[in-house]
Amino acid sequence: MTVMVPSRTPALITPGRQALDSALHQLHQAAEHLGLDDGLRAMLATPRRSLTVSVPVRREDGRLDVVQGFRVQHNISRGPAKGGIRFHPSTDLDEVTALAMWMTWKCALVGIPYGGAKGGVAVDPATLTTRELERLTRRYVNEILPLIGPEKDIPAPDVGTDEQTMAWIMDTYSVNAGYSVPGVVTGKPMTLGGSLGRAGATSRGVQIAALAALGRSPEGVTVAVQGFGKVGALAAQYLADAGCTVVAVSDATGAVHASGGLDVVALRAWVAESGGVHGYRGADAMERDELVELDVDLLVPAALENVITEENAPRVRARLIVEGANGPTTPEADEILAGNGATVVPDILANAGGVIVSYLEWVQNMQAYSWSAKEVELKLRDLMESAYDEVRTLATDRGLTLRQAAHAIGVGRVADAHRMRGLYP
Ligand code: NAD
Repeated sequence: MTVMVPSRTPALITPGRQALDSALHQLHQAAEHLGLDDGLRAMLATPRRSLTVSVPVRREDGRLDVVQGFRVQHNISRGPAKGGIRFHPSTDLDEVTALAMWMTWKCALVGIPYGGAKGGVAVDPATLTTRELERLTRRYVNEILPLIGPEKDIPAPDVGTDEQTMAWIMDTYSVNAGYSVPGVVTGKPMTLGGSLGRAGATSRGVQIAALAALGRSPEGVTVAVQGFGKVGALAAQYLADAGCTVVAVSDATGAVHASGGLDVVALRAWVAESGGVHGYRGADAMERDELVELDVDLLVPAALENVITEENAPRVRARLIVEGANGPTTPEADEILAGNGATVVPDILANAGGVIVSYLEWVQNMQAYSWSAKEVELKLRDLMESAYDEVRTLATDRGLTLRQAAHAIGVGRVADAHRMRGLYP
């Protein structure tokens, strides 16, 4: 039988496909650097398990909607699969696969004993009532129930989900098990076994990576942050706390700019009240998508994938880009930025703080024990700084970009795990 492969006209390249192409490109570069054989490359390029589910959700007016959901376990050679769940209207299997692959390299890079996974539901949570969202979450979890579990696959929050979503997941799983299983998800509320420090962990990691990469005092360093959600808002806060001047932030509703520096605390309060940065009166409004081109020292993309592309990369003026988001920079843009002398601290390093503290939360759950905020912060800092130093050293020694070095380390560790385990049967 002949399998027809559709031709790849640009119109057919969805954002998800673009993200997966980027992830595969980065993998193949690392495989080339490591001299991996074709069989191992094929293993690493393909997810171990992908599940697509239909999620029926009863709306308040009695209507029945059916949305698509996904869970992908990219690799489980180093431990249970780990990765967030995204609720976003344009998520698809390709995007979730790319995000799962990045999780695999990220966990290996920072040395935590997990494989990589991701989940998604193609829905805009803002269009649902809280009760609809709860029904949708519980039904989605029921559909992916055979895959998840504290020793198998542990979800966490991502775009469009939060600690309430995690609480519903924990409850649904626990009711099915017949007893409470806090270790099935991370990013839970404290009252259900969440960890101190988890809510701000990704942003704290972004701050640690940014300050390490700056290599100078943060005083007077200007910053623009794209995305003002769970990661972006606290990244802006922590960078401002460290002495940087956050001059612009954006979210889906718009962007605001103040050359003397934004009052991040006041802006966060405005967003909590109004739902977005649009309309904030303490700063000037600006074109949302021009934020990445602002003349700042440090740019933190903390929204979605594919926002720095070959089209706008030549106009990016920041000398340092620290990726809070997963996959914000395409490989073509990467080359342009490197050619222009900009440094990119890649996603799998810069935003690893989230999965590091998720791991710490899970360890606490498995031991029915809890650590102080200080203990969690010290462990996070230690793992982030060690990973940063390792990546920086390899990049310098081998003449690689930080992304190439980070992938060489992450992919290399997963390849080693496969080699040592061998192939069954
Ligand atoms: P979130 O849903 O809390 O926030 C996303 C933010 O991006 C929102 O403010 C939204 O308005 C904004 N946004 C959407 N489209 C935009 C646009 N076109 N321009 C500007 N802003 C836009 O999600 P999050 O958890 O903060 O995740 C953000 C990114 O960080 C994602 O790439 C996610 O995968 C990554 N990440 C998250 C975590 C975590 O712990 N939550 C960990 C690692 C990586």
